[in-house]
Amino acid sequence: MATNGDGIAATPALDGAAVRELRQRLQEDRGKRASELAALEKVVEGTAPEQVEPADYSRMDNLRQSLTEIDGALRRLEEGTYGVCEGCGQAIPAGRLEILPHVRCCVRCQGRIDGGGR
Ligand SMILES: [Zn+2]
Repeated sequence: MATNGDGIAATPALDGAAVRELRQRLQEDRGKRASELAALEKVVEGTAPEQVEPADYSRMDNLRQSLTEIDGALRRLEEGTYGVCEGCGQAIPAGRLEILPHVRCCVRCQGRIDGGGR
């Protein structure tokens, strides 16, 4: 695909329809997680702190983090920077986005982050 080479490239490999579909998918995912989080919070609120399962706390943490990531992905979709690796600025392969729609980095950068960097 030819580009004129100036400015930030449009979201790579995504046309308008794909963006709409993705946004819908992210919003559905967000809705599900938000309601699961709300339900868990309700349970935890009604439970004495020492009786709350530690797993419930970590599940809530995970959900909150997912929500933050999904929000970030939705924002990047609006800005047209979705699918660009935050680490190296390269396009994230479509196959990876298919599996992990809210991912922020390519596999290589993710590995570097998970590995503690160097
Ligand atoms: Zn990268």
